Amino acid sequence: MSGAYIQKITVALAGNPNVGKSTLFNALTGLRQHTGNWPGKTVGTAQGTLRRGDILYTLVDLPGTYSLDGKSEDERVTGTFLQSNQADCTVVVCDGTCMERSLILALEILQRTDRVVVCVNLMDEADRHGISVDEAALSRFLGAPVVLTAAGKGIGLEKLIEQICHSTLAPKRLDSPKWDDPITAAEQIAGECIFREAEEKPKYRFQVDRLMVSRRFGVPLMFLLLLAIVWLTVWGANYPSALLESGFDWFYAVLKGWLKATPWWLQGILVDGLYATCARVIAVMLPPMAIFFPLFTILEDIGYLPRMAFLLDPCMARCGGCGKQALTLCMGLGCNAVGVMGCRIIDSPRERLAAILTNAMVPCNGRFPTLILLGTLFFPEAGAALIVAACVALGAVGATVTSGILSRTALRSEASSFLMEMPPFRRPRLGKILVRSMLDRTLFVAGRALRVSAPAGVVLWIVFNTGLMGLAAGFLEPFGQLLGMNGLILLAFILALPANELLIPVILMAMTGSGSLQETAGLGGQLLIDGGITWQMAICTMVFTLFHWPCSTTLMTVYRETGSVKKTAAALFLPTAVGIILCIMLKLLLM
Ligand code: GDP
Repeated sequence: MSGAYIQKITVALAGNPNVGKSTLFNALTGLRQHTGNWPGKTVGTAQGTLRRGDILYTLVDLPGTYSLDGKSEDERVTGTFLQSNQADCTVVVCDGTCMERSLILALEILQRTDRVVVCVNLMDEADRHGISVDEAALSRFLGAPVVLTAAGKGIGLEKLIEQICHSTLAPKRLDSPKWDDPITAAEQIAGECIFREAEEKPKYRFQVDRLMVSRRFGVPLMFLLLLAIVWLTVWGANYPSALLESGFDWFYAVLKGWLKATPWWLQGILVDGLYATCARVIAVMLPPMAIFFPLFTILEDIGYLPRMAFLLDPCMARCGGCGKQALTLCMGLGCNAVGVMGCRIIDSPRERLAAILTNAMVPCNGRFPTLILLGTLFFPEAGAALIVAACVALGAVGATVTSGILSRTALRSEASSFLMEMPPFRRPRLGKILVRSMLDRTLFVAGRALRVSAPAGVVLWIVFNTGLMGLAAGFLEPFGQLLGMNGLILLAFILALPANELLIPVILMAMTGSGSLQETAGLGGQLLIDGGITWQMAICTMVFTLFHWPCSTTLMTVYRETGSVKKTAAALFLPTAVGIILCIMLKLLLM
């Protein structure tokens, strides 16, 4: 049967962030709209349909908000949609573990729209905390039907659909309820309808939580955790990277064998250009992402991220940033594209944009090999480690200070809000974490990287094998010199646009005159010294490694996140300008 619906009903889903709105939406519509969407954060509105008998329900998942009057983009989208009367019915999704806060928004919506169904979600969690909700009393107070659900487990959904149907059949309310002060009203209503068992457990949980966000214990614990994750990502990735590389090497020989009969230039473009570049990008990028994402998703799933942000907030605020930005910088250490995508956790649009534009200033995993190689080249081991650590610190400070300056100057007109949410600790669901971090994030970012590196590999090969190389390096020589490097290194930075890990191999390719990335694998740094690179040049190259244009994958991600060519261009020029200024200063100082 198709097309013969008697009735079409539009249902809006509204609620605070993190109350399980998307989970409810997915459960009701059978959609899996997780791809690329940071959990706990619905960006823009999503639509899906649900059919019951002759009625076709169109569900609109609105961005999570705390109020309808706020200035942030999310609040505007939700407020405008609800007041436009496009929905026949609004479902206000509340958090059963924290009704006082959820009710504030529910009251605002009840005051401004007819036909509301109040859905109290996360009831399984509320049960565990010994919290119960008097459905009938709450419904009386609000003058609207109330349904208790646990969307994650599919509990209460049929009843919710039933109530939506009932409410759209009932006549519209003529008088809107009046609450002079929604905050006080929410407290009073919660006091009458919500009951808590006096249990030992919540107290104990509360104390653990207090300890986790305390300065004395929480801050060192957080740094240990961060250190462990970054260490596991950076060093743990080495072994699988080497394994992948040898696998790709083996297949390189196989491919060469298959294409033996084809012209040399075709072999070159396909195997030395396209294949070798993609293989290197995958070998270096995939393992750290496959380690970093699941670990980070665990922290996210148990609810540790907001606590980390809370701990980091005072320190970041002093530099002009916000706590959540520190987290996105940590993500950037793995991969800047991920860091940029992670900026979705920053609620305030102004701080979010500033964080997106400056994320590439922290060195990603692809830039660590350059920093380590150049560091060890001229300085003894401990000194090199110190220099690499100093580079990371310099990048993080650069990003924070620049975004602080941006927030106060160029971005001053963007909206800003300061509300930090502290959801309860939740038990991690490992299966979901693996699927979400592997499919939605790791493969998503890797796929995007491949789309850029494949054509770039072809260009790289052509530049090297047609004599364009010498010409371009010669042209760039004066600029390179100005920045304390040389034309060839600057050209390598440009050619490494598809992925930063290409920088050193491209320099080596140019110095050895070999036309393939494959042949540079395993070549040491001695070649760089023989090629005339001095320690002063190495330092300038390291600083420029930190501050220059982001790789093309990151730029594409910035474009996707901001939807603006102008903002993407800003993400390109901003770190480059900082790099140029620092390098010129360094050159004057050192040479
Ligand atoms: P949104 O920001 O409101 O869209 O929230 P999400 O749907 O992304 O859910 C936030 C978190 O709560 C996720 O980790 C969900 O898996 C979890 N969640 C959603 N509904 C339930 C539920 O009924 N019970 C429990 N225990 N967790 C839930």
